[in-house]
Amino acid sequence: MKDTAVPLDQLVPEHIKGFEAYIPSQPDDMLKKLYGLETLHRLNNNENPLGPAPAAWPVLENFPPREAAIYPSGDAWHLRRALGERFGLDPDQFIVGNGANEVIAFVIKAFCREGDNIVTADKTFAVYEWVAEFSGFKARLVPLKDFAFDPETMLSAIDERTKIIFICNPNNPTGTWWKRDQLEAFLERVGGRRIVVLDEAYCEFVEDDEFPDGIEFLQRYPNLVTFRTFSKMYGLAGLRIGYLAGSREVVDIIRRTCVVYSINTLAQAAALEAVNDDDHVRRTRDHIAGEKRKLLPRLEKLGLEYQSDAGCFVMIRLPFSDTLAYRKFMFKGIMIRSMTGFRFPNWIRVSIGSSAAMEAFATALEEIIA
Ligand SMILES: *Cc1c(COP(=O)(O)O)cnc(C)c1O
Repeated sequence: MKDTAVPLDQLVPEHIKGFEAYIPSQPDDMLKKLYGLETLHRLNNNENPLGPAPAAWPVLENFPPREAAIYPSGDAWHLRRALGERFGLDPDQFIVGNGANEVIAFVIKAFCREGDNIVTADKTFAVYEWVAEFSGFKARLVPLKDFAFDPETMLSAIDERTKIIFICNPNNPTGTWWKRDQLEAFLERVGGRRIVVLDEAYCEFVEDDEFPDGIEFLQRYPNLVTFRTFSKMYGLAGLRIGYLAGSREVVDIIRRTCVVYSINTLAQAAALEAVNDDDHVRRTRDHIAGEKRKLLPRLEKLGLEYQSDAGCFVMIRLPFSDTLAYRKFMFKGIMIRSMTGFRFPNWIRVSIGSSAAMEAFATALEEIIA
């Protein structure tokens, strides 16, 4: 017999050998069986408890089965026009992706070559770091200061091989955010020499005049790229759709790294309706604010340290291991996010869910702490 064994060791690059795959949690039906549950409250992924924006419901309910056989628009033609109108930009200033997760890879592929690096925070959305590292680029991670991105240390981490700086505003998981003047000062000091990515996955949750709208900065800072998603506020996480916006010149470069047809027909049609559903945004904001008002005093009563600012989530510090807490909550039918993976050992992040889910969470927490 011929030896057909693949010499994997020689095929695999060093940066892949050292990289550990992310294992997502099992599907709900499996988890329910595993933990013996009737109901499972998903408070781990910042999903919208009100569901998809109602404007998108007719599209979701009436999807013609025959359409499933037809390829979608390869570049989300209609959606980019709707986004252009909504934000006062040229439709060609947008690239739509299979979730904002996908556009992270587009940007890194477009600008980084061997030996380059990206700069971001150590305790933020981990996908920037992961995509950089498994693509063979170094992620230079800057510590947060008082739970927030620190402009000074970010700037000092930039070296001659830094191509992209990722800022998550508001930050997942801490909810902190840079004000308009802070962002502006940072962009001024970076100058046009690096790409600055502003991930605004939670921008629609912020109601504050000092919160900067990244899209308004694009005109003045052509090296700025903003990310947005339909997964959080618009409740379309299951359909996987998000986008980036930037100057024409930068977007024309990023577009070269895109795989066309990655956004399915239903996602495009639903997002097209959701994007202008401002009533849904208002109702979601009200719900989140109301639930936080109920939850935070209960955390204080338990004497627990917490971190809550913008966004649809709260971080809580527990007096024991977060991985143990995950299991204890699971046995009570509540899925939270353990934060060791975010470099916050003993912390958990809980998404603001339905009123029933939040009541179940608070009660479970009180029992677990007691
Ligand atoms: C959820 C999230 C994303 C990605 O969302 P998609 O579902 O891939 O669109 C990006 N950035 C942050 C900070 C997020 O929390």
